[in-house]
Amino acid sequence: MEKQNLKTIPDIDLAPDCLAGKVILVTGASAGIGRAVALEMARHGAQLILHGRKVDKLEVLYDEIEALGAPRPSICPLDMEAAVTEDYDALADSILQEFGRLDGLLHNAGILGDKSPIEHYDPVLWQRVMLVNVNAPFLLTRALLPVLKKSEDARILFTSSGVGRTGRAYWGAYAVSKFATEGLMETLADEHENTANLTVNAINPGATRTAMRAKAYPGEDPQTVKTPESLAPSYVWLFSEAARDFQGISFDPA
Ligand code: NAP
Repeated sequence: MEKQNLKTIPDIDLAPDCLAGKVILVTGASAGIGRAVALEMARHGAQLILHGRKVDKLEVLYDEIEALGAPRPSICPLDMEAAVTEDYDALADSILQEFGRLDGLLHNAGILGDKSPIEHYDPVLWQRVMLVNVNAPFLLTRALLPVLKKSEDARILFTSSGVGRTGRAYWGAYAVSKFATEGLMETLADEHENTANLTVNAINPGATRTAMRAKAYPGEDPQTVKTPESLAPSYVWLFSEAARDFQGISFDPA
């Protein structure tokens, strides 16, 4: 059955300062799509909190954002395979102390796991994929909802995938985790249907030239796949005033 809540982002015309004053946390900002989106958000004035696994990669991005003359970001290293509830609660506390609110949460960090039949899927790897792709977004959302609700106009954006909408052989834990992502988004959006200052949506970036894509399709020429930079304006739009009225939608990029 076709899903009813899919939408393609329209042609967009972003004002240069459309994210000015907005405090936004980007998970998995150290590489790939998250990195490109963080840079584009910074160019549009956002005050960023950069999450990733490794401090050194986040520091390189920090320097690039500072060199743009954008608001100086914060850095938040946390390994989502190892993190526990208290780590997410501590992060929420520190954001509340430093900024008093959070205007945007982009759940972007993710891992592919292995492409293998379910029958042969490594159970340990299955758990790791679920920790990063499902449990971490749940724990982070749970911890941050009170901080997001202090914003006048808060956004949560989950990152989905084509294999999170229609099951596909051999995509194993990754596909199942992205179905869970769609489910978490829809459930949370429905819970906030009448909350004027919080919207919850998802985006499926589609095939994008990153390390994850190269791992999933080792024989593919990366030049045939769109760049993360070309996607970034769609993400910026979803966090801007222009996208305020959407709730519970799973978007495809422009
Ligand atoms: P990527 O290049 O592999 O980047 C993944 C990001 O997640 C990196 O910043 C990585 O940190 C972080 N991460 C991974 N494991 C982590 C952990 N245990 N703790 C904390 N951070 C961790 O992937 P991408 O292609 O940009 O994917 C971004 C999102 O888009 C994912 O949710 C993915 O499922 C989705 N997506 C991608 C495509 C595509 O074609 N690329 C298509 C559909 C959906 P490190 O830098 O330390 O590795």
